[in-house]
Amino acid sequence: MQPIGLLIEFKDGQVKPANFGMATAARADNRQLVALVVDESVGDAKAALEAYGVTCVVDIRTDSNGWNPAVHAAAVAAAMQKIGITTLIGLTSPAGRELLPRVAARLDAPLLMDCIDIDLDAHRVKTSQYSGKTIAAIAMTGTHFIYGLRANVVAPVEAPAAAEIVDFSFAADHGSAFEVIETRSDGSGSQYLAESDIIISGGRGMKNAENFKLLFDCARHLNAAVGASRVAVDNGWVPYAMQVGQTGVKVNPKVYMAVGISGSIQHFAGMKTAKTIIAINTDANAAIMGNCDYYVVGDLFDILPALEAALASVNR
Ligand SMILES: Cc1cc2nc3c(=O)[nH]c(=O)nc-3n(C[C@H](O)[C@H](O)[C@H](O)COP(=O)(O)OP(=O)(O)OC[C@H]3O[C@@H](n4cnc5c(N)ncnc54)[C@H](O)[C@@H]3O)c2cc1C
Repeated sequence: MQPIGLLIEFKDGQVKPANFGMATAARADNRQLVALVVDESVGDAKAALEAYGVTCVVDIRTDSNGWNPAVHAAAVAAAMQKIGITTLIGLTSPAGRELLPRVAARLDAPLLMDCIDIDLDAHRVKTSQYSGKTIAAIAMTGTHFIYGLRANVVAPVEAPAAAEIVDFSFAADHGSAFEVIETRSDGSGSQYLAESDIIISGGRGMKNAENFKLLFDCARHLNAAVGASRVAVDNGWVPYAMQVGQTGVKVNPKVYMAVGISGSIQHFAGMKTAKTIIAINTDANAAIMGNCDYYVVGDLFDILPALEAALASVNR
């Protein structure tokens, strides 16, 4: 059986937890899992990946100076060809969106992003379309296959294995016109929305940028990420990276809290698969109230400080 390549993402030197769900999704039928790690330390990562069934870690070293999607994608494609990997799965994350299409282009392979289900034998995937109203099943043909999995669609399940480390050095083509001059934070906080178990989002009801601090204060106690409706983004209160919805990030957390958000179809398209949805709204008839698991009818400016105080006392 062909080994499956996993494009591993890191945050602050640690393997991102969303990779473990990806490994779990790829592991069916005891497939060999090959983790591709680019310009990161495989030392600590090896044990973390072994816990989820990875049997080979490819330590890819490039001569790029930091994050460079063009060089990293070329290195991944070269490593896949060297090792004989024809199927690669990565995350549909900001880094995945940069890397996976480039890898696919290099290998002349079909690419499907935002997959919610992947059948690795039949090369068929499921992905949501039309604002989440339909699920498309798409079959791919080719010699190589590249998939971007939506984070958190598969719960991680441990399956301990022992992994060997394979070194792979890649010298970049300096004829490339691509050079990363500077990398800046998007200001959206510490967590990427799609990979968070808990998300607290604010909408027009937050009234201004400063009031988002109320959400960040609660989020800190829950290790949650903070999201937003498009209105909050369009008003310039928060960066676009925080937008949840049809034209923003699609999330699948364990808990989604919508604060001062009415629950438009377009917002729902991005969060309706959350396991538990909680709404805080002054309007008992807001659409979100009929589409959530729990709601509080009340003023967020009363509820959020009280919630923050309660969370602080629990965490004390
Ligand atoms: C093509 C297209 C794509 C779109 N994509 C997206 C998308 O990706 N994401 C997205 O979010 N939207 C998207 N939209 C916009 C969407 O249609 C809505 O306009 C938007 O979601 C509404 O945002 P909101 O819920 O914050 O604001 P509103 O609909 O104005 O709701 C604000 C809510 O806050 C409540 N509220 C007010 N004050 C308080 C208070 N003090 N305490 C508690 N509650 C309070 C109100 O009762 C109300 O329910 C898109 C629209 C289009 C046409």
